[in-house]
Amino acid sequence: MQTQVIYSADSITVHKLSDRVYFRKAEWEQTNQCNGGFIVLNDALALVDAPSEAAVMQILDEAGRLFPGKPVRYVFLTHGHWDHADGLDELIRAGVGAAMSRQAYDRFVSEGRLLPDDCLIVDGTAGAVIGGVRFEFFCLDGRLHSGEDMYIKVVDENYIFTGDTVGDFQYLYFASSDLNRWNEALGELAAMGAGLLLCGHGIYRENGFIREQKAYLSKLAEAAEDVRRRAGGSLAGAGGDALEALIGEAANGAAKSAANNAANGAANGAAAVDRELFTRHLKELLERER
Ligand SMILES: [Zn+2]
Repeated sequence: MQTQVIYSADSITVHKLSDRVYFRKAEWEQTNQCNGGFIVLNDALALVDAPSEAAVMQILDEAGRLFPGKPVRYVFLTHGHWDHADGLDELIRAGVGAAMSRQAYDRFVSEGRLLPDDCLIVDGTAGAVIGGVRFEFFCLDGRLHSGEDMYIKVVDENYIFTGDTVGDFQYLYFASSDLNRWNEALGELAAMGAGLLLCGHGIYRENGFIREQKAYLSKLAEAAEDVRRRAGGSLAGAGGDALEALIGEAANGAAKSAANNAANGAANGAAAVDRELFTRHLKELLERER
């Protein structure tokens, strides 16, 4: 899909996806900011995610320039990781309301964080018309990217902000993830048939990308299982060097079988496996089991 870039500065680009929805792409390596969005309501703006206090100041400044006369009134959080939510306080102090998953809200409460008076706490699924725009919020059970992940769907456009549950593999992060549950949720997401998936890092993706990501997660799950089996069923107490060696072998195996599939022209699983990245992901996944 061709989109119009309406703003570009400081490693930030704002892409117009429709009259209502703008994707704010931040180059992670340069900015340490996640992607986000501006959603144009009848007489105000909603943001997606709030990366840091400095980022929020920047976002408010961009909003004022790009959407004059539309004050920022809401922020919707895809999840509460620091690079998506550390700027929340700044927005609350500016009188902005929020929507977030029950899981993120409860964690913020337990940490004594500042929370807005006007807060939509989403249990499971919720629909709301906010400033004339129809939204649906879907909280994801279980540990996917964060354990508090929430999709934000702009209904009429059929765009879904996915947070970090979908995205370029280099930005995937797996600590304490349940890959089977994640893959199941991706299947449900694919069935929603979104026109575009607006990812937390990297670029937006079309629905077909989900198939590639599912294949990658399956490969990781297989390799993790392989490591556990070869470690005798459990990684508890496994030595660092021994585990490292097993992970390296499993990553080699995955890279080799992906290359073979590609050579044989297999439609499924033909995506190349970057050995280094795969190794890092396997380590993230298995580290907590030691
Ligand atoms: Zn995250």
